[in-house]
Amino acid sequence: MRPASIDDSHPVTNPLLITIDGPAGAGKTTVSRLLAELLEYRYLDTGALYRSVAYSVLINNIDFEDDADLTAHLKEFDLTPRADKNGFRLFWNDRDITDQIRTPEISMMASAVSAKPAVRNFLLDMQREMGKDKALVCEGRDMGTVIFPEADIKFFLDADPHVRACRRYKEMPPKTTVTLEDISRDMLQRDQNDSRRALSPLKPADDAIRIDCTHIDPQTVVRLMMACIVPMLKARNQ
Ligand code: C5P
Repeated sequence: MRPASIDDSHPVTNPLLITIDGPAGAGKTTVSRLLAELLEYRYLDTGALYRSVAYSVLINNIDFEDDADLTAHLKEFDLTPRADKNGFRLFWNDRDITDQIRTPEISMMASAVSAKPAVRNFLLDMQREMGKDKALVCEGRDMGTVIFPEADIKFFLDADPHVRACRRYKEMPPKTTVTLEDISRDMLQRDQNDSRRALSPLKPADDAIRIDCTHIDPQTVVRLMMACIVPMLKARNQ
């Protein structure tokens, strides 16, 4: 998809590192994928890394409130991101778990384990390594504030909580027993966990460009972003 009416000619040299932060359901994933496709960059969903930790903690019945148990588990935790088209797939012990980590239970567990210093430290180097060659659009909660404070351009997406919950509800499989109320409640809980935690809380970087996505579709968000990105690419390639 190439949105019409934008000047999308972009030099391939001097690629950018672009961060997109924001709460669940704000549209980060759709927008990040579209933007990465348009720029021919890779796309990194850092929520999936926290979800992978949560998945392994659940399957192995780890008491993540016990720092010693959690640290011991992470020492053995074998997570390998493998590049796939313009994104990454995640392999745990050589098993592709990318599609199994998207359940509401894992969302809540990811939010809980992501507050733990051992988990954030474990994933820090992995994320920085994945961003070292730039040409990357990465989305999460602390991309612009903690992981890549030197990113070339930072966005923060937000939207009305009810709109965010409705969007997530529409993504549920047709025969789901999960209700809109369940999703709304879990989302508010996660928003609170993520923004009130001591370590790497969800918040816009001081130099982030904030976009309210309540009333605009992903293509429009991408156009707004490209209006910031294209002049920067042109300037650095002059
Ligand atoms: O983005 P997603 O909803 O998949 O993220 C799942 C959870 O992982 C979030 O609720 C948040 O607690 C955590 N997360 C984080 N830092 C990131 C990405 C995700 O703490 N950079």
